[in-house]
Amino acid sequence: MRVKLNVTGIVQGVGFRPFIYRIAIKNGLTGYVRNRGDAGVEVLLEGSKAALDGFLLDLYKQKPPQACIHRVIQTPLQGKNEYSQFSIIQSSAETEFSGSVVPPDISICGECLTELRDTQNPRFDYFFITCVNCGPRFTIIERAPYDRDTTSMRDFSLCSFCLKEYTDPSNRRFHAQTVACPLCGPKAYLTTNKGEAIKCADPVRQAGKLLNEGSIVAVKGYGGFHLAASAALEAPLVRLRQSKSRRVKPFAIMAKSLEAVETFAEVNSKEKELLSSYSRPIVLLNKSGKYHLSPLVAPDLHNVGVMLPYSAMHYMLFDRVGDLAFVMTSANPPNQPIVKENDLALQILSGTVDYFLFHNRNIVQRCDDSVMRVHGDRSVFLRRSRGYAPAPIIIRKPAKHCVVALGGELNNTSCVLNGDKAFISQHIGDVENLETLSFLQETIGHLVNLTNSKVDTIACDLHPKFTTTNLARNLAEKNRWQLVQVQHHHAHVAALMAEHGVEEIVGVVCDGYGYGSDGSAWGGEVLLCDNGVVNFNRVGHLEKQPLVGGDLATKYPLRVAAAILNKKIDVSQWLLQNSSRLPYGETEAKLIISQLKKGSAPETTSLGRILDAAAAVLGVCYERTYEGEAAMRLEAVAAKGKDVLDLDLIIRDNVVDTSQLLFAVYENRANYSKSDLAYSVHAYLAKNLATLAVGKAKEHGISTVGFTGGAAVNALLASLMRKVVEEAGLRFLVHELLPAGDGGVSFGQAVVGGFSDF
Ligand SMILES: [Zn+2]
Ligand SMILES: [Zn+2]
Ligand SMILES: [Zn+2]
Repeated sequence: MRVKLNVTGIVQGVGFRPFIYRIAIKNGLTGYVRNRGDAGVEVLLEGSKAALDGFLLDLYKQKPPQACIHRVIQTPLQGKNEYSQFSIIQSSAETEFSGSVVPPDISICGECLTELRDTQNPRFDYFFITCVNCGPRFTIIERAPYDRDTTSMRDFSLCSFCLKEYTDPSNRRFHAQTVACPLCGPKAYLTTNKGEAIKCADPVRQAGKLLNEGSIVAVKGYGGFHLAASAALEAPLVRLRQSKSRRVKPFAIMAKSLEAVETFAEVNSKEKELLSSYSRPIVLLNKSGKYHLSPLVAPDLHNVGVMLPYSAMHYMLFDRVGDLAFVMTSANPPNQPIVKENDLALQILSGTVDYFLFHNRNIVQRCDDSVMRVHGDRSVFLRRSRGYAPAPIIIRKPAKHCVVALGGELNNTSCVLNGDKAFISQHIGDVENLETLSFLQETIGHLVNLTNSKVDTIACDLHPKFTTTNLARNLAEKNRWQLVQVQHHHAHVAALMAEHGVEEIVGVVCDGYGYGSDGSAWGGEVLLCDNGVVNFNRVGHLEKQPLVGGDLATKYPLRVAAAILNKKIDVSQWLLQNSSRLPYGETEAKLIISQLKKGSAPETTSLGRILDAAAAVLGVCYERTYEGEAAMRLEAVAAKGKDVLDLDLIIRDNVVDTSQLLFAVYENRANYSKSDLAYSVHAYLAKNLATLAVGKAKEHGISTVGFTGGAAVNALLASLMRKVVEEAGLRFLVHELLPAGDGGVSFGQAVVGGFSDF
């Protein structure tokens, strides 16, 4: 019999054709396999029914580890057999099917690592050793079908040795598009910060040595440049912080090995599994008692972001030095995407670094590292990017519309929803300027093309002035797409519902800021969705608190604290005592006091601002230099505390009182430790919000309460809330596949758009 199979999913760039070749030969079938322009794979088979059955069994049971089969469409063919053998034939540009996508980047595999260390191997010491099972994928592919010619590997023609492996069905590099060797493949080289070449036999290890000696080196990786420096020395980190204008924002580090990590951090089995997974994310780990890295790596935090090497180049950096870890932070100018081009790197980074470790292979798609942490035995995404994007999230039922969603403004991603698959882009960042905006546009175009999606709807935030809202309006008009604007916190809850496939939920959504349906600032919300993802009701929230000085209050939490305390006491004296904590000292304090007397300021229900205010009253943080700083530092302080205040719940008319909480902290600041008071703040907020949500759930006969928004990455809040919800006999849901923060908003917008009726 003759049959054609069209396989969709992640089936290109994962060794799928060689696999098909092998199982076709094994089962005695003839025909061909080829990649298609829609990122799917087409197989034509000729042979007996028994052989075909055997093939199909192998297809599902023995597929390559990184492959993901979504669908196999079988079409019986008429006519006589035409093929006398089975072969891999030239790819076709056909784009009939949609929903397939190229795989994420894959960290170096064990076999390649062994070869890297084998003096007899032709790829001994080769920084770009890869095979069919490992190496960059998403970041090198321009378009489907995945062939050498559609990747940035096309600049390197295979030498006879590589070609032999590439064409040998029994070889691990059979049809591996990233195959290369020192003779024919990409080359690494070291330059000064002016771009002058430095002659050396071993540029990668030389770079490692320079790091060890205190230099800052820009290292070109898979998805962009990292700024690397010693994690043990103070001087390079001081310089790095000055030039990156990052006074205290934590730097991620790359550790040599798991054993190295264990010398400075606590690592449980789940964290080990994540660290060594093929995605190799940055994992936030608690610093251990033996923490010995520079305090400048992650100042005033109880945890530190750690990743393991994911390419041969990374492993080699550590070879000739005693360092257990290097700082490895994304090289991006403030509010701009990570740098990926060599010439741009020279232009932008030469003032920051001492040396460049370049290679001559282009990066097609930039992609920042992913960031995760572990709550109990659950992994939580802070950023879903390298190693995960663009693999789709599969939702329970197909959407009515094909949607592109632009996300919000900060920590953004975009999303393409096609049928039951949502393709979420890599981390884009803060869409506030031209560079990030054009990066956002590029990712949308790329995702739509890769997945062969026929978009009819575009979703964005409700905020009338966001850059992304404007872009959505323009694209809707230009392409005649339906425009759907989704309230920020609604998008968070919709994302949580779609991820878990639930039709009703009471969602607690906490973060820093989102534009509310009433035009005011929201951020501590209880939303009821009782009929799918499309509609919501705001059934509760935190008390509104004034933001004296608007955005300044977000930056300097003393302002929020003073305004809240001012509701109960005269704060003039306290504020003047602490005026040195404000950038303009006493003058500013007096101005705030007079503003408080006038009593007109914008208000917010944000949970973030309450944590900020508590941090200021406790003296934990007076200035926010990076997003979520005060909240993160307060969580760090609370880590070893207990609930000493044990305040009564105060919920009036579905509003959780926060003034009383802050006042209690203020009143007791001399009576208890900072740690216990910080814990008490978390306990009060979590218990009140969870109790309010549980009440609403019971009132509406709903069995599920969820927690989402940026604050849901706070392990303490999440665990305290879980306790209240589960003790009430309800199910508690948090994100598992997506970031709880704004990186998940585009997905939420997409599902609201995708299931809307119009
Ligand atoms: Zn490999
Ligand atoms: Zn070669
Ligand atoms: Zn948010």
